[in-house]
Amino acid sequence: MNSKKITIAIDGYSSTGKSTLAKQLANKLGFVYVDTGAMYRVTTLYALNNGFISENHFNINDFVLELDKINISFKYNSELQFAEVYLNGVNVEKEIRTMHVSSFVSKIAAIPEVRYGLVKQQQEIGKGIGVVMDGRDIGTVVFPSAQLKLFMTARPEIRAQRRYSELIAKGDKVSLEEVLENLKSRDFQDENRATDPLRAAADAIYFDNSDLSLDQQLEKAIQLYQERV
Ligand code: C5P
Repeated sequence: MNSKKITIAIDGYSSTGKSTLAKQLANKLGFVYVDTGAMYRVTTLYALNNGFISENHFNINDFVLELDKINISFKYNSELQFAEVYLNGVNVEKEIRTMHVSSFVSKIAAIPEVRYGLVKQQQEIGKGIGVVMDGRDIGTVVFPSAQLKLFMTARPEIRAQRRYSELIAKGDKVSLEEVLENLKSRDFQDENRATDPLRAAADAIYFDNSDLSLDQQLEKAIQLYQERV
């Protein structure tokens, strides 16, 4: 597809299918896909592995002093057709998707210094190219002038079931209730944090994919893209 290069921002609650749609769009349009959630997850993995956070303690002050030791990079995997994420040169794509990381990530993502650094990197990566970026604050903070902004929604039971199936397929031993609780808790923390909370941008288009197949959601998003360019 010969496509005009623009910035597409996809925000929304956890497990609404943002990354699936973002990958589909990027592949169809020949754009770069950036998963900003992966960057917060990598930062969380570092905090967990280095003892800055656990169930009963959180040493924010020392953690913030170490932020410049966290190097996050992406490398395209042509077999999987998306860019996998690396922490200090090590592929951590699988490790960051576990329930364990999910249960701490919103605490890490609420730290202003963490957000400041990652937002700057996201702006650098997406500057002047055709990009589809998904997250919680892309249309409001990272690229407020993105030409197309989608705010994804889906019914809670559908979101939990999708996430549950993904985790089970990867061998994570979780229950559907745990997954639902984690989604609710992350959404609450993401919406209620002081710095860059999850919000739909005023000019975002609400996109409910509860009853859409993958082909249908891509078709609908491509239509919106074509209207914009
Ligand atoms: O998108 P994903 O579910 O992988 O994101 C994990 C977490 O990272 C979110 O629950 C949120 O706390 C945080 N996040 C964020 N801002 C973004 C992307 C993700 O705060 N732009």
